[in-house]
Amino acid sequence: MSRVVVITGPSGVGKGTLIRLLREQLPQLGLSVSATTRPPRPGERDGVEYHFLDEPEFARLAFEGAFVEHAEYAGRRYGTLRSELERRAAAGEPVVLEIEVQGARQVREAIPDALLVFIAPPSREALRERLVGRGTDMPEVVERRLGVAELELRAQDEFEFVVVNDRLEDAVRELVAVVREAIGGPVDCEP
Ligand code: 5GP
Repeated sequence: MSRVVVITGPSGVGKGTLIRLLREQLPQLGLSVSATTRPPRPGERDGVEYHFLDEPEFARLAFEGAFVEHAEYAGRRYGTLRSELERRAAAGEPVVLEIEVQGARQVREAIPDALLVFIAPPSREALRERLVGRGTDMPEVVERRLGVAELELRAQDEFEFVVVNDRLEDAVRELVAVVREAIGGPVDCEP
């Protein structure tokens, strides 16, 4: 059974929403809080959405080997802290990571039994609409993220499980089924 679940895919594809709904159905699944050098968006809290670090602090932790994986994404650094996973592993809890593709590849190497799921948009246009529409980033940041998304979309064949986030309810159902199987959660008893 896999205790580490990686949800990857391009920015704006809906990974965060899917993970929130996944965890409502599988509450035993802990969420790994990543570190990043990007500034907090309005409403984001340090230690909740991310551990917000400055560049020297991130570099120091990377040098010390504190990250299971880390990557640069659209000019900012992001990484999964070893401590986030070890804390869960010690308690026997499964954990889910929301990370971009380079990081997912690193986790595949470091934790071969991790479950990796790629979330794909129904189309490139739908992804653009979502990234522009959510209004969390400046236009030049959106353009940069779309450029990265092109490369990320080409990586989807590397992943054993691909869930297309078209109708949200369908995507959640599919994701819950795959993750439940991997972490060995209780069987759903819906009539
Ligand atoms: P955002 O700035 O929109 O929060 O995140 C940008 C991208 O970085 C998203 O694709 C997100 O999944 C990814 N990301 C978040 N945390 C991590 C992490 O710890 N490692 C890696 N490799 N990517 C991350």
